[in-house]
Amino acid sequence: MANDLVFQCRCGSVAGVLHDASARTGLRYVCHCDDCQAYAHHLGRADMLDPAGGTAAYQTNASRLRITRGLDKLASMKVAKLAMRPALRWYAACCSTPLFATFDTGQRSFFVLLLANTDPKQADALLGPSLGIVWRKFAAGDVSDRKDASIPAILWRMLTREMNARLNGDWRNTPLFDPATGKPIAVPYQITPEERAKAEASIAKLSSSSAGPARAR
Ligand SMILES: [Zn+2]
Ligand SMILES: [Zn+2]
Repeated sequence: MANDLVFQCRCGSVAGVLHDASARTGLRYVCHCDDCQAYAHHLGRADMLDPAGGTAAYQTNASRLRITRGLDKLASMKVAKLAMRPALRWYAACCSTPLFATFDTGQRSFFVLLLANTDPKQADALLGPSLGIVWRKFAAGDVSDRKDASIPAILWRMLTREMNARLNGDWRNTPLFDPATGKPIAVPYQITPEERAKAEASIAKLSSSSAGPARAR
């Protein structure tokens, strides 16, 4: 298919493609939220974040996703402090590589691919430049030279895309959820308060060592 963006986990056991990846069919941005950072730190993959703790992301519909290898290695977890939060994180259990984010039900077609697992040249060619950053207040380093992506614009495009997927039935076409029950194919693990605190201590340590003086200015 045209515009296939390929990705794989660090060890290569899990691989897949995102069909029809473009600036028109999705949104590219960098997320600095505390949950994205806690997720990477918890899995021991802070190396996937940029120096200010940002997660390079591309948001589109889950129906564009195909897992070509290692579907049985996919695992899911919830990292928010409140377990009822609907955000679900997916990773490759073989090598603890963060891969995607979705909601915790297949009825929402919202899907985020972590761009750290793609070839930067291919991502740039297909997706174009990032729209900017979101959740600036959680940045773990100096982001004064980065622009903000427009949250209303992101929400508007996300909601219209999701609504279309609901109306035309496209939401069912995802490898991550059972279309009959809407449940994720891997039972989510809820991060414990202790694990979350440990991840946050790791974030604080990194941000004070990398950007302490810059933040104090
Ligand atoms: Zn792997
Ligand atoms: Zn985030």
